[in-house]
Amino acid sequence: MKDFEIVIQNSTGLHARPAKKLANLAKAYQSNIQIQHGEKKINAKSLISILTLGVEGGSTIRITIDGADEEIASRELYQAIEEGLGETEPVQQQTLPNAAETASVSQPVVEDKNDSIIKGVPCSPGISIGPLFQYIRPEIKIKSQFQGVAEESDNFRKAVATACLQLEDIRKKMASSLAQKETAIIEVHIDLLNDSELIKETESQIESGQAASSAWHAVIEKRAAQLQALNDPYLAARVLDLKDVENRVQRILVGAPEETLVLPDYPVIITATDLSPSDAAGFDPRKTLGFCLAGGGTTSHTAIIARALGIPAVVNMGAALLEVKNDTEVVLDGRNGSLLVQPDENQLAQARQIKQQWQDKQRLDKENAAEPAITPDGRQIEVVANIGGIKDACAALKAGAEGVGLLRTEFLFLDREQAPDEAEQHEIYTQILTALQGHPVLIRTMDIGGDKPLPYIKMAPEANPFLGVRGLRLSLIYPDLFRQQLRAILRAVPNGRVRLMFPMVADIEEWRAARRLVEEVRKECASAGMDTGSSPVEMGIMIEVPSAALLADVFAREVDFFSIGTNDLTQYTLAMDRGNPALAAQSDGLHPAVLRLISMTVEAAHREKRWVGVCGELGADPQALPVLLGLGVDELSVNLNAIAPLKAQLRKTNYQAAQDLAKKALTCETAHQVRSLSASFESESKN
Ligand code: PEP
Ligand code: MG
Repeated sequence: MKDFEIVIQNSTGLHARPAKKLANLAKAYQSNIQIQHGEKKINAKSLISILTLGVEGGSTIRITIDGADEEIASRELYQAIEEGLGETEPVQQQTLPNAAETASVSQPVVEDKNDSIIKGVPCSPGISIGPLFQYIRPEIKIKSQFQGVAEESDNFRKAVATACLQLEDIRKKMASSLAQKETAIIEVHIDLLNDSELIKETESQIESGQAASSAWHAVIEKRAAQLQALNDPYLAARVLDLKDVENRVQRILVGAPEETLVLPDYPVIITATDLSPSDAAGFDPRKTLGFCLAGGGTTSHTAIIARALGIPAVVNMGAALLEVKNDTEVVLDGRNGSLLVQPDENQLAQARQIKQQWQDKQRLDKENAAEPAITPDGRQIEVVANIGGIKDACAALKAGAEGVGLLRTEFLFLDREQAPDEAEQHEIYTQILTALQGHPVLIRTMDIGGDKPLPYIKMAPEANPFLGVRGLRLSLIYPDLFRQQLRAILRAVPNGRVRLMFPMVADIEEWRAARRLVEEVRKECASAGMDTGSSPVEMGIMIEVPSAALLADVFAREVDFFSIGTNDLTQYTLAMDRGNPALAAQSDGLHPAVLRLISMTVEAAHREKRWVGVCGELGADPQALPVLLGLGVDELSVNLNAIAPLKAQLRKTNYQAAQDLAKKALTCETAHQVRSLSASFESESKN
């Protein structure tokens, strides 16, 4: 028998992803493996048991391994835990709508002159008109009549197997059309369904005379209560997953109809209290005109699925929504988050017209995407793409991008056991440069660190990872890894037009150290006879730490350009975690404090004849656009979907008027005031 004590390295502890990794690793060995945390001791091969331990980052667990392969199991488990259990994914971003897609929100479908409008939070743009249908998850009557051990066990096993096949089916469907994050949720469901402890406990209850349906229900209820008792919102969210998994098996056990079958056979706007990931993915897209939820939130699965299907969705509409009867005609506006109930003829005609205009505008913006973005009074803004891989690179020019303004190279480093070697990196940078056909490609060196640890880098857990060793700080601490990336980039230079940028710069010495390394690597390449291009590469830094913005005049003397990362700049200026949904409304890049930093940066840069871009989400926000234009930003780098509408908006916005707007915005007291100013600017420009 082997046993050891170990500290959980990843800051989030044994939550779903690392717990899944640990359980799967344990399952690979024959030995009996137990984890002890405090008084509790559980089977390490059971995901649900690991979750209910509620182990936090930095706490110690004891692992006991007993069996033929205990030696190797002990070594590998130890190493995997030491390395953070694959906690390599970026912190999940909120799934807020693409701001540019929600452009023209200021124009409601109809005047809000009666109380037949229900308001909520928009999360996928578009307008749908049609009958409403409330999706009520069919109530499942737990069966308690016992048919004998053999029959109940058999029914249970078959139900679990069928449920697994259904989930596999959904996973495949999702993998082809939806975000990876959603697929990962279904994978957790599959793991829960196959959890050895859940199965064993249910079978033992069946053996003691309980029907499969009530045994399964009791086992899930017990685990759900344990998770809830841990008082951890993240683990409490797993209760929904457990219930979803329970329902799927129950429906098969009690012969309830598949949920998708209870929808009408004509297209409807679906309303519900909330939707589980498998609900939302299970609806027939041809018959789903939109989603509106009484509950849900900005991180709702519905938002991601709706956007992938290109249909409108609104969440957080409140209980009034559920009072509306099925088949009531409604207009769902995913741009401003409203539902108009029983529109009269006039309202309906108006809604149809606006829907048509919206669709026409979308089409027209796309048709003109390749045209330059020049304001009516002649200021041209470079509109480029934020990309995270080759697929985006291939789509960028078609989307109207004039180049790439941010290549997040992290995708090369995350989710793998070993660092990509120089050859692999070089190949990918080359492919991206080739896809961009000579247009500029701004390559940002790896922005990894505390919140996105890598298994091949040993790092102590950090209490405040966003204030820890990340971005350029990390690159400078691991010069071998950094040099390798720089060599791969520099060797790719002859294939296109590279701009090189460093993330999270807080101090001039960091920039200087990075610049020195680039020069050293370039010389090494030259003496090894490697081609790194004939002219020097443009080099700049991200402005995303307030200290860099405050010292922009110092940096501007040495760098070729700045690109403002408004996501982090807002986070650090307002001291609000960018991933915290509770702060989503306040954490606004249009806050005057952030705008003043942007203004200082632009002025300092222009004095030294340097250009300034914005590559954070703010660049794709239609209300921010005239302000950023007026502050003098030269380049905007946004996600692919935002390019066409952004260019269209720039072509209509007067630069001089935007400068006046920006001046006023700098004197505002709150982000709310800036937004109101911008909204009146937009409506005045229309008149
Ligand atoms: C930013 O911080 O605004 C930015 C563009 O970088 P990232 O979102 O990758 O941190
Ligand atoms: Mg950033």
